[in-house]
Amino acid sequence: MRGAAVSGHHGGMTTVAFLGTGIMGRPMAANLARAGLDVRAWNRTRAKAEPLAAEGVTVASSAAEAVEGADLLVTMLADGPTVAEVFGGLTVGPGTVWLQTSTVGIDWIGRLAESAAAAGVPFVDCPVMGTKIPAEQAQLQVLAAGAPELAERAAPVFDAIGSRTRWLGGEPGIATRLKLVMNAWILTLTNGTGESLALARTLGVDPELFFDVMTGTGFDVPYARAKGPMMLAGDYPASFPASLAAKDARLVVEAAGDQIDVAGAAAALAHLEAAVEAGHGEDDMAAVYEGIVKN
Ligand code: NAP
Repeated sequence: MRGAAVSGHHGGMTTVAFLGTGIMGRPMAANLARAGLDVRAWNRTRAKAEPLAAEGVTVASSAAEAVEGADLLVTMLADGPTVAEVFGGLTVGPGTVWLQTSTVGIDWIGRLAESAAAAGVPFVDCPVMGTKIPAEQAQLQVLAAGAPELAERAAPVFDAIGSRTRWLGGEPGIATRLKLVMNAWILTLTNGTGESLALARTLGVDPELFFDVMTGTGFDVPYARAKGPMMLAGDYPASFPASLAAKDARLVVEAAGDQIDVAGAAAALAHLEAAVEAGHGEDDMAAVYEGIVKN
């Protein structure tokens, strides 16, 4: 059921152009419609956006069509180059606030903010924490940075997709930095789970004992329990594709520069690259396991 209509800044119903309806974007767009926003979604592969029509979303034939006259523009695309390419093909007016939710890293968030400024488009750096199921349940955490006066305009979107929004500052960039901090942790947990399970098998230890022994301890981690069984089954239904996890590991390593040694993220990157190379790019990041085990 659709909620009450939310008013836009012109007084009519708030219109949202939603670009990118992949694993994350599709449930996010559905939740915006459920919250009573007028959503026009576009995806390069149209078939992935079509099911949204049943959720009350208008499926647009082009990004330009989705964006025309929209109060808000949300991008949830693969990476920085993709967001830049898609935005570069649009004419977006100053009446539209751009909420950039894709994980693009530090260099790209700077470039995208510059493109927005050059076009006179108000811009919010707002990556999200949470994967497929939190996206479906409108339980994402939004990390936001942008001019304070944009908070009120962005609120209907953030409230509809997530459980909590943290405004971190007035300049785009800091939200993306925090996102990299969090993803470094997620990458380390997943890679660590894979290494311990691979080690168990190599040493002739029942991998189930890894989970038994951690039960009730301070080193028990729900993430190990979510990703570990996929590794043991060798079956990786994607919540977060390995190719995008590799992109994030690369962004973390680049962000760290020469100041610190992020060997954990570098190890995750090497293992994810091997997994992608072996054909697991569209599998879940738990396929990092395939990059740990040598054939
Ligand atoms: P996904 O399912 O692979 O979706 C990627 C989207 O980008 C699709 O809409 C895809 O369109 C589009 N795309 C890729 N290359 C394109 C191009 N050259 N031109 C136009 N569109 C292009 O991935 P996702 O998991 O939803 O991730 C989207 C973003 O959210 C990424 O930045 C990711 O790092 C971030 N993120 C993901 C998660 C997660 O757990 N999954 C959590 C937080 C943040 P097609 O359908 O046509 O390929």
